[in-house]
Amino acid sequence: MSQSHYAAALPRPTPDSQPFWDALRQHELHLQRCQACGQAFFYPRNVCPHCLSSDLAWFRSSGRGRLHTFVIAYTAPRNPPLEVPYVIAMVELEEGPRLMTNLVGVEPDPKQIRCEMPVEIEFVDVTDEFTLPRFRPVA
Ligand SMILES: [Zn+2]
Repeated sequence: MSQSHYAAALPRPTPDSQPFWDALRQHELHLQRCQACGQAFFYPRNVCPHCLSSDLAWFRSSGRGRLHTFVIAYTAPRNPPLEVPYVIAMVELEEGPRLMTNLVGVEPDPKQIRCEMPVEIEFVDVTDEFTLPRFRPVA
């Protein structure tokens, strides 16, 4: 493991979320689907949020979706010292679940960003151990 210069906070995987982080390292986005009711969901957990079944399976997401909503951050905490402005986004994936992420590949300008714009995942290897999912507009 090499020394990381990534300054921002890193995830703390749990037994339930470890498969999600492992898949990201392989540049794949994996979600869970309930085998009892068929609903896909995010974040990772050990029971279905729709029917409480624990009969769950992982599957690979397309990594495509639409921008559900966003906010542009113009100030950042001192620790970690994030570079501003940046876009905090909620993406609704093709498979249904929504996830909180960052929008990249576009100016952080409200005139350039529209809700419902199509987006796709970008895998960002921030350390040897962690890859973060970010999303960019699809041209
Ligand atoms: Zn269910």
